[in-house]
Amino acid sequence: MNNMKRRRSILALASLVLLAACAAAPEPAPRWSIVVHGGAGVIERASLTPELEAQYRTAMQRALDTGGEILENDGASLDAVEAVIREMEDDPLFNAGRGAVFTAEGRNELDASIMDGRTRAAGAVAGLTRTLHPISAARAVMERSRHVMLVGEGAESFARTQNLEEVEPSHFFTERRWQQLEANLRANNLPIPQRPAGAPPPPRAEGAWPDDHQFGTVGVVAYDSRGNIAAGTSTGGTTGKRWGRVGDAPIIGAGTYAQNGVCGVSATGTGEFFIRVGVARAICARMEFNGESAQEAANAVIHGEVTAMAGDGGVIVMDGQGRSAFSMNTPGMYRARLEAGGEPDVRIFVDEEVVVIASGLER
Ligand code: ASP
Repeated sequence: MNNMKRRRSILALASLVLLAACAAAPEPAPRWSIVVHGGAGVIERASLTPELEAQYRTAMQRALDTGGEILENDGASLDAVEAVIREMEDDPLFNAGRGAVFTAEGRNELDASIMDGRTRAAGAVAGLTRTLHPISAARAVMERSRHVMLVGEGAESFARTQNLEEVEPSHFFTERRWQQLEANLRANNLPIPQRPAGAPPPPRAEGAWPDDHQFGTVGVVAYDSRGNIAAGTSTGGTTGKRWGRVGDAPIIGAGTYAQNGVCGVSATGTGEFFIRVGVARAICARMEFNGESAQEAANAVIHGEVTAMAGDGGVIVMDGQGRSAFSMNTPGMYRARLEAGGEPDVRIFVDEEVVVIASGLER
């Protein structure tokens, strides 16, 4: 081979190596990233009026704005998770805080959990009836008690010692959820309880609310500029629940999980199945031990294990470098995500292409 030829083949080889390296190189990690859900279920185009759909999209966008601002200013992922969930707990659209579904006895019993990926510290509460922001009670359990999970009256007295705001139980009442309860109890031949004390009188005409299949839980996973991951979930559970039933949302490893460098997960769906599969931890374990991506691990658990058991719902997942994924086996899941310097991505229906809301409600 003459010199010229040798130089050409060296050059060709070098460009091949470069090309291969580029193809294999992972996308650069975002400086920060946030992913949010507002519940999964039978959310279909036909069952959602344009007004209600617009309200959900606006609420999801607001969640990104609130979390994004904290993360853009180098705030902590834990603060972003708590702030966004508090806002969603105040929003009657979601089955968390105000707007939570009712138990068969006509009460709102609220569950929440939060996890700090730095240390895997976690806190959870279940069955709250008066604490305004269950997610803040969960955070207080994590940061200011020796425990991980508190329930019922005890959890509420602990929240009181932490000066967390309390309200009358009727604060959480919404007509929409009450009508869903009545429909659920009628369908199951169960007695309809009295409207709760302090609830407004029944309206003359029944509202036409979509049957969103009982879901509407909220959850957030955030990755901050220090690479710390936090995850949180808050819910009223499932319509017509009885006997102190608790779902997956406050169970660490089922509804919520966070581990720096590995993953963050928040789930929504039929809690009984999510508990049995240990959904959040199962996804993280696949990522940690099998080297699966967030999307692969989420799909394997939701479309594999959960679907095989006939459970339904979905998850939001963050990987250790701030790349997020959604997975669901339901017709819809209110979901949204945003990365530093990126465009907001807000979606509802399962078949939806990326929908960018740059300003207002344009789709
Ligand atoms: N997973 C929640 C529960 O079972 C319900 C939901 O996500 O909507 O309590």
